[in-house]
Formats: sequence, C-alpha cells, structure tokens
Amino acid sequence: MTSQTLTTQLPYQDPALSIPERVADLLGRMTLEEKVGQMLQLDARDDLDDHVARRHAGSILHTSPERILRANQLTAQTRLRIPLLVGEDCIHGHSFWPGATIYPTQLGMAATWDPDLLERVARATAEEVAITGIHWTFSPVLCIARDLRWGRISETFGEDPFLIGELASAMVRGYQGEGLDDPTAILATAKHFAGYSETQGGRDASEADISRRKLRSWFLPPFERVAREGCRTFMLGYQTTDGVPITTNDWLLSDVLRGEWGYTGTLITDWDNVGRMVWEQRIQPDITHAAAAAVRAGNDMIMTTPGFYEGALDAVAAGMLPEDAFDAAAARILTLKFELGLFENPRLPGAGLDEVVGSAAHAELNLETARRSIVLLENDGLLPLDAAAPVRVAVVGPLADDAQTQLGDWAGGSGQAGWLDGQPREMITTVLDGLRAVDGWTVTHARGADILTLQEDPQGPFFPDKQPRPPVVQPCAPDAELIAEAVAAAADADVVVAVVGDRIELVGEGRSTATLELIGGQNALIDALIATGKPVVVVLLASKPLVLPASASKAAAVIWAANPGMQGGRALAEIISGAVEPSGRLPISFARHVGQQPTYYNQIRGQHGDRYADLTQSPTWAFGEGLSYTTVEYSDLELEATSLEETDTIVGRVTVTNTGTRPVRETVQVYVRDAVTSVSWTDKELKAYRQVELAPGESARVRVELPVADCTIVDAAGTRLVEAGAFELLVGPSSRDDVLLAADFEVV
Ligand code: BGC
Repeated sequence: MTSQTLTTQLPYQDPALSIPERVADLLGRMTLEEKVGQMLQLDARDDLDDHVARRHAGSILHTSPERILRANQLTAQTRLRIPLLVGEDCIHGHSFWPGATIYPTQLGMAATWDPDLLERVARATAEEVAITGIHWTFSPVLCIARDLRWGRISETFGEDPFLIGELASAMVRGYQGEGLDDPTAILATAKHFAGYSETQGGRDASEADISRRKLRSWFLPPFERVAREGCRTFMLGYQTTDGVPITTNDWLLSDVLRGEWGYTGTLITDWDNVGRMVWEQRIQPDITHAAAAAVRAGNDMIMTTPGFYEGALDAVAAGMLPEDAFDAAAARILTLKFELGLFENPRLPGAGLDEVVGSAAHAELNLETARRSIVLLENDGLLPLDAAAPVRVAVVGPLADDAQTQLGDWAGGSGQAGWLDGQPREMITTVLDGLRAVDGWTVTHARGADILTLQEDPQGPFFPDKQPRPPVVQPCAPDAELIAEAVAAAADADVVVAVVGDRIELVGEGRSTATLELIGGQNALIDALIATGKPVVVVLLASKPLVLPASASKAAAVIWAANPGMQGGRALAEIISGAVEPSGRLPISFARHVGQQPTYYNQIRGQHGDRYADLTQSPTWAFGEGLSYTTVEYSDLELEATSLEETDTIVGRVTVTNTGTRPVRETVQVYVRDAVTSVSWTDKELKAYRQVELAPGESARVRVELPVADCTIVDAAGTRLVEAGAFELLVGPSSRDDVLLAADFEVV
C-alpha cells in the first residue's frame, strides 16, 4: 500500500451511498494493520501520535478537552482519514468535563424509580457530551447489586432485575436519542456483561461463581431487554465464570447475545481484558495467544491493550488467525462511524458548547432528580422542620460541606481522569450551603469527625499494567476535640443535622470494603450527638447502603442521599425544611450488619429458618421502602379475573389513600408470588409499579396490569416459562410481606 493521501472522493467518502456500500468499499482498501488498528481503543493520555500514526487506533478514551482536537488533526493526516470514535465514562452526567452537570449516581437515580426522569437525564447528558466531541458513553451499568461490600454498588441501579431493566432501557433511549445521525445522539453501553457483580465476598473482579440458569434467571434479563431494544454497544466485565473470562465466553457472547437475542451491535472489552488473560488470570501464555482468543470469541473493540496490535499481527503471521479474521469487527466499528456521520462531521467540540454544558436548564433537571432520589428512612415526626420558624440548626459531620464527595464516583475528583481535580466548587450546593440558604434559620457548623487517611500499598503504587493501585485506607480515631465542638454546636441548636457516610477512597473499582460501618470518628460522633438529647437528623451521604451505629436508632430521622450530585445539598435542605416532599424509594436493601451479606429481597426459598443464631436476616430497610411526610393506606385489592391463560393480562385495582395532611407521590409496587414451582425460585419478584400523586385526603383506585406471560420462572433446563397453577399478586408500598395486600389468581 502507498502512503499517499487521498485527494479525490472515493466511494466510501460519498454520503449518497448506503452505509453497507461505504463500509465494503473502505474495508476493501484497508491493510491488515489498519483493520487490526480499528479494533483498538487506546488511552488518549498516552502517546496519542503513536496510537493514531503507528497503531492506526480506531478509538480513544479518556480524552481531555485539548486532546480531542489533537486527535482529529492526527487522523486528518492518515492515509484513509478514518475518524476516531471517542469514548468516555459519562456515567451520571459528563463526569470528567470541567463544568458539566453532575447528577446523582446511578444508584441515587434508581431511588426515583422514574424511567421518564432518567431518560431526560440521559438525553441532557448526551447533549453535553455530544457537543464536546465525544461520541460514546460507557453507561448504563446493568449489574445487579449483590454483596454490598463490592466497591461498585453505587454504579448500579440496585438489586432488582425488573427495575434495572426499566431504568437502563430509559437511559439507553435518552443517550441514543432519535437516531445516531442526530448530532446530539451518543452511543450507549450496556455493561458489564454479564455476572460481574456476583462477587465472592465483595472482591472486585473475583470469579463469578454463577450457573447458566442463575444467569438466565436474574442477571441476563436486563441485558436482553436493552439488546433487543437497540443498545448499540455492550461492554464485557472483568469476571471469569467456570474459569473462562467473559472475553472468551463463547456461550454468552455468541450463543446467547448474538445468537438467541440477535444482537448486531458492537462488543467492547473492559480495560486491558486481553492483557489480563496473560498477566493477571494467567490463562494465555502471551499476548499473541490472548489476541487470537479474543478475536475468535467475537470481540470488536479491545480497550487499552496496546499490545493487541502486535499480538494480533503475530497471530496472523503464525497462522493462528486468518487474514480476514478482523473484517467483521472492523466493519461493525466503521458502521458506527458512518451512522454517526463522523466521516462528514467528526463532531469536534462545537460552537455553543458553553451554553449547553452545565446549562441552567440542566441544573434545574439535576435539582429535580436530586429531590426525587432522596429517601426518607425514619422520621419520628420531627421532619419537616418549620421553614417559617427561626430554627437554630447545627450542621455537623465530615460530609456536611464536602463538595466533591457529594458527587461520588465517576465525577471530576474521583480519580479516573488526570486532567481535573474536581468540578467547580461554585456549581455544587453542599448540605451546609443548602441549609444556610433557608431564610430565617440560624446555621452553625462543626466537622465533628475525620474519616480516613491513606497509606501507600506495600506492594507499590501501580499494578503490573501500570494502572494506579488504590492506597490503603487508615480509619481516623475519634477526635475528642472535634466531638466537643460538635456537641457544643448541638447544645446551642434546636436540631442537629449530622451528615455522615463514605468517601471516594472507599468507593469504586478495586475499593471494595470489608465492613459496611461508618469509618473513622463518625460512629463516636453520632453516639455523642444522640447523648446530647437534642433531636438528630442523620443524613447518610453514602455511595451505598451502610450500617449506622446502634445509637442512631434514637435519631429523630434518617435520610439516605446516596451521592446526590451538584444540587444535592439544596434538595436535602428543601426536604428537611418541607419545601419538597420526600418520595424516593430504596432500589436496594440496607443490611443491619455486614455479616448478613447478601441482603437482597428476592432470595430463593428453602433455607432452614430465616435468621442467624445471633441476628435476624431481616434488613434494616428493605427494597422498595421509603417514607413520605404523610401516611398512605392500601385497601380493596381486586382482580378482574382470577383464572387466566398465558396470553391474558392480569388486571387489578387497589385503593390508595393519602390519610395524612401532606401531598404524596406514592410508588405502588406489584410483586408476584408463584405458589409452587418445578424448581426452587424466589418467594416474590417485582413485576410492575406505578407512581401516583395524591393530595391530602385524596384516594385513588389504581389500576395495575401485568401480562401473565411475565409470571415466569426459569426451569432446570434454563428455559424461561410460565408454569400453570396458583399465584398471588402482591401490591403495596415495599417488598416487606407485612405491608403487601395479596390477591390469588390461577394460570390454567
Ligand atoms: C471499568 C469500566 C469503564 C472502563 C473505562 C474499567 O475499569 O470497569 O466500567 O468503562 O474502565 O474507564
């Protein structure tokens, strides 16, 4: 091949031709090296010139604002001028773009139970992302939260496959918009396929000990849904199952995903998955074998394994792969680039960027999301406080004014991107800021406790692949002086708001925790505040469900705010002061003790008893729970028909009454219990829900619908089916048995 540049228009450059024609023409002109290069997604923070000029990389990630422009200059100088696909982890907002809107974490957003809201968040995120020259977000996460010690719980939508499917599908729609040719559409990624979250002891990327039946029962359905709905890319996880890394798992990649589900989208590995087969899992002798195995298994894009380039070419030279082994993958990647219109418009950071990124409209949407994501867990009647009274509030705790921590993982300061330390402080309202802004209140502040310090890991600061190794957390001891300050502030106040939780050093990849308790001086702080006898509102600003100290059972109120994003402090202040009604519902159960892991509600029937000798198994707060400032009663659950066929739809009606004095947004949850199953199954599963708004005293007859075809189990052979027999439809405000109304029906 010559290295001359193209001057006249070639067929692949002609937008009038169809995309398959353009792909075929371009593929026919590409060298073996260029095809292998198309499969590479490399780290833009490394040698960008080398990636593009020598390795012909098809894609880059972690591209700071400046590097996007540089990358485009480089591709313009290449022989075929194939544009780069630019990917980034825009997880809950445009995470690493300075000044972008950062929403609550995915787990926080899940507490809204509102697909329409999440679709709007994803759409607004796509607008911010697209205008900055990025084409692809590695979001959403469809992993099921299981062991809460896992560091990545905050990235999930929680523990329920149905809720995950609803919310993931909404976010995919929001990101991808009306079609990829819309300049505000970006590629969504369903990750991490599949079973990555089934950790052992919460350890990140441990072997996922999971059967095919279990995958089909709970882990795969959300992925199947978005695959069938057109999510354009899937990212693999880090896990091995039965000794096979997902990167080479033929059954999942070929038989299930591409075969049964007919998925035609693009597969991307996770970070250096191909290299890991050599240096970490040690199941391939060298990069040549690893590259060959990854290609044979049908991976399209290889994330951050630069040596894949040489390995794949060596594999061809050694006769381990045929020359055309890369055609299908290269064609899929080129198809995405043509569909996005990148050959005509590489979508560089655009005019109007400043009006879109971090816009006032997005801040408003962010505030709405934060309000809806906050879950009121306990309230003895103290809340809401009287906004009109001159309340003296002592705002204490190490997280009351910690702006970056409030944003959580995958946000400015969380460490994955080196080009920014955090998001602009002035864009973030902390809890302290929010409460100070309430007119007429007197607010004092004391930190009260420190959480942790860090020590370098004795094994050194980097893993063998040069990725940073997380430092070791050293919990801080309770500090008598800090506690005394907080107690003094409490003594002078009418009410204490204690903001406690976790910090980024305890959250994320490779940062699973052995405990779920509050770290450092936080428990001692809560003990001391409760001992003052002042009413204490505990605000748990925690990435995932944590365990509060026993003294917190005497708190007047407990609120969980996950990582509530830039507007979180304002939303919390509005809820505490009664300007906004709390409406979040738990997408995940809270354990009483770390030893209860895993704590999810839909466990399989058949164990002996339901408690440990020394502790109940019941969670502190269960999936679906969340309080309002009013009371709600459920009554008169009735079904239109009680004998149904598989093609029928179950139609039920339940009366939901706001029996209190404040308005409510109630999440009416619908579970199904299959009385007898041919194989052991979970006792109940969420199958539908509806959100209704009721004024004080108002009552509504809420209609719930559920196709009988959804009342499935997965049998011993792994087939999903409805088994005839007796069922119960359970309707109520949470997954707790004692609050659910039941109606019997039969499938004939
Ligand atoms: C994570 C992915 C992420 C990727 C790129 C990996 O370590 O597991 O979720 O998208 O890095 O940053």
